[in-house]
Order: sequence, then structure tokens, then C-alpha cells
Amino acid sequence: MMDKKQIWQAVLGEIEVTISKSHFVTWFSNTYIASIEDGQVVIAVPHGFSKEWLENKYDKFIRESLAKHCGEITSIEYRVASQERGCSDGMGSVKQENRMPSLATLPTGVFGLYETNLNSRYTFDNHIIGSHNELARAACESVAEDPGNKYNPLFIYGGVGLGKTHLLQAIGNHVLRQERGDRVKYVTSEKFTTELVDSIRRQNIDLFKKTYREIDILLIDDIQFVGGKEKTQEELFHLFNALYQQNKQIVFCSDRPPRSIATLEERLRSRFEGGMIVDIVRPDLETKVAILSEKCRMLNFPASYEALEYIAQNIQSNVRELEGALNRFIATCQLKKISPNLESAITVLDPHFQKTPVDVLTPKKIIEAVSSYYNIPAEEIIGKGRRGNVVRPRQMAVFLIRTATRMSYPCIGKELGGRDHTTIMHAFKKAEEEMERNDMFEQEILSIKERFLL
Ligand code: ADP
Ligand code: MG
Repeated sequence: MMDKKQIWQAVLGEIEVTISKSHFVTWFSNTYIASIEDGQVVIAVPHGFSKEWLENKYDKFIRESLAKHCGEITSIEYRVASQERGCSDGMGSVKQENRMPSLATLPTGVFGLYETNLNSRYTFDNHIIGSHNELARAACESVAEDPGNKYNPLFIYGGVGLGKTHLLQAIGNHVLRQERGDRVKYVTSEKFTTELVDSIRRQNIDLFKKTYREIDILLIDDIQFVGGKEKTQEELFHLFNALYQQNKQIVFCSDRPPRSIATLEERLRSRFEGGMIVDIVRPDLETKVAILSEKCRMLNFPASYEALEYIAQNIQSNVRELEGALNRFIATCQLKKISPNLESAITVLDPHFQKTPVDVLTPKKIIEAVSSYYNIPAEEIIGKGRRGNVVRPRQMAVFLIRTATRMSYPCIGKELGGRDHTTIMHAFKKAEEEMERNDMFEQEILSIKERFLL
């Protein structure tokens, strides 16, 4: 029987494969099951924000996933961990309200600025090396051993779910474990922007700057999202210079190389390119099997080689999904007390794998994928605006929808904010032309497919 921790691990595994990495880190870090009794579950969360989000956005998912692993759930309560310990921080009133707390209700000051944001679950010990990530791993270890002196900045890029965040966090955890007193901070570029905006609103930007300039090892994840954010880029540029001059280590992760981050200021791009750039590619079959068997070894789960090979063969895209499938397999085997061989793997996972991309691809998903890739809100892609940088993503969306779903032009028009079918036809033709003569266009279509739609 799984214990609380294992159950939550399995639930997280499932959630992780379905939501964006940044959301996952933001909303699920430091959550755990505080208690389960007669179908009543209490989930501890680190702060009011994640409570609101889990309640409003992920409750259904969590409920279903929990039910799979531990039978019927009668109620779920999300409880802020510090409140549980009886600590009153003036946010008690927020608890009763059924909406996101407005900024004004939060304590003033630098909310969260001093947090390392590290999750101890990501270490080098449980990071598996394969030919696809060897170089990145070596660079990260070397940086963790001797921060500021080797590869500075270190820039890691690669597709979704290939272990970038894991490595970035592992650097931080390793450094902390050395106990040299280094100040480490992990932050996603989105969170960096939010903190910056908050500090401007609260008129304590100096404190923001000071805090960041005192960091010894700064780990910035998903840096591709600074594209187009001028103020963030400006702050980042000055911060970078300040830290760099003092030999402080900076590491960036991105889903694409610096030159492919659209609307990145030249001066930042050249900073990023001034250090070491390494990529992580998709693991090959052998590596995927190795990753799975290593995970089984760590979890002390005796899966057969054939079962793992079956999983590896059926998951092309990334390690996150490998993990998700493995977690599902483990949980089901334990729950139903079946032996973890090839036959069970097929029984458990085949229905799951049967959902080929073509079946599940919907216009909505495609629009969301395009939206994530370009960091433009879906509403804008659907909307009527013709701002320069939305036209091309819109064409891509039309192209992808048409080729993936074979929907008629009028239907696509409906999905895209009620556009006329001739407009859609025109956009499709335009995209086809671009595909023919513009390598970048084709490359971007491929990246979107690879990263979000496979
Ligand atoms: P990314 O940031 O590149 O999108 P993550 O670091 O979030 O990917 O990795 C997704 C999941 O896969 C995480 O749970 C991570 O621990 C796991 N993972 C990825 N690569 C490896 C690896 N080489 N060894 C062990 N676990 C891995
Ligand atoms: Mg990541």
C-alpha cells in the first residue's frame, strides 16, 4: 500500500505531465499530503496563492488523480502550512475569501524575495546521465563545484521536459549542501518579472535590486519568457553586469538558444552568448530505458526490462512524460497487486498511449501551444488585433489547425474568433508560402509541434 508521500508523488507525476512546467513549479512546489482519513484529504500548501490556485484550478484534477491512487475521496481541504502551525501572519482574513487575494491584502515588503525557491527533490544524485545530456550535466556540476569561476554565464537550452529545471535546481541544492554560506536563488523569469513589477508598485525597487545583487549564485529558469519584456530585460541586464563583475555565478535555462529568443535585446543576447552554451536533446531509446530503470531502482520497484522498454518505445518526446507513464504504471501495479511485467505494462498503459496526437489535437490545444511558444496570450491570437507580432503566430495557428485536424476553413474561422472563411484560407496560403521559402518559419512550426503537440 502506498503511503501519503508516495500517493502525492504519483499525483504530482500525473499533474506534471499535463501542465506547463512553470505552473507546476509555481503551484505545486512544497505541497504535500498532510493527512488522509476516511476519504478526507488535507493537502498542505506553502502560501495563500497556491491554496487559491489549487482550489480553483486544479481541484478536479487532484481529486480524480487521488481517487485513482487511494479510492474514494469525500473531501479535500487545502491548508496553508504555516497556518496549520498556528502562525498568524495577518493573512487569515484572506482564507475566507473565495478569490485571489489582491496585492493590497498581502503583507507589504518583499514577499518571497529571500526565498531560494529550491526544491530538494532535484539533485545530481537522482539525475541520470545519458548521451543526450552529458555535456549539460558536466557543465552544471562544474559550476556547482566552483561557482563563478568556470562557465559564466552558463546557458542551457532544450525542449520541454528534458531536465533543464532539474539540473538548474540540482546546482542550487549542491551549492547549499557545501555550506560555504553562498546565497543561492532559483527563479523563473516570469517570477522575476512579477517580483519586479510588485516592487515597482510598492515603491521598493531598491530593495529588489539590493536583494538580487547580494546573490552569489543566481539560477534563472525559462529565460525565453523575457522576450519582449523591456523593463525586465533592462533590470536583468544591470543585474547581470553587477553580479558578473563580482564573479558571481549566473545560470540560465531556456527552451531555445539565445538567438532564437525573439525580441531579446542585443546587449542581453551577447551577454548570454558570452559564456558557455550547452544543449540537451531528446534521449534515445537506450537512454530512455536507462532512465526508467534507474528511477525504478531508486524507488525500489522491480519492473521487468521489457516493461520499461515498452514504455520507452511509446514515449517519444520527453523525460517528464516517461516519468508520468512510469508513475502511472507503478501506482497501478501496487494498487492492483499485479506484477510489473510487459503484459501489465501493456494493459495499464496501452489505453493511455492510444491517444495519438492526431486524435487529441484540438484547435484550442493548438492555439494554446502557439500562445506558449510565442508568449502571446491566446486571446490575442484569436482576437482581431493586427499588431505586427501576432500576425505570424496566427498564421501558424491556422496552418497547424488545418494540417493537424483537417477542419474546414469556416470551422477554423469559428475557432479563431469568428473569422470569415476567406480570411482563413488566405492565412493558410500565406503560411504555406512561408513554409516553402522561409526556413525559420518551418523551423518554428516544427519546434511548436515537437514541444507542445507531440
Ligand atoms: P524541463 O525543465 O527541461 O522542462 P524538468 O527538469 O522539469 O524539464 O524535467 C521533467 C521531469 O523529468 C522532472 O521530474 C525531472 O526530474 C525528470 N528528469 C528529466 N531529465 C532527467 C534525468 N536525466 N534524470 C532524472 N530525471 C530526469
Ligand atoms: Mg523547466
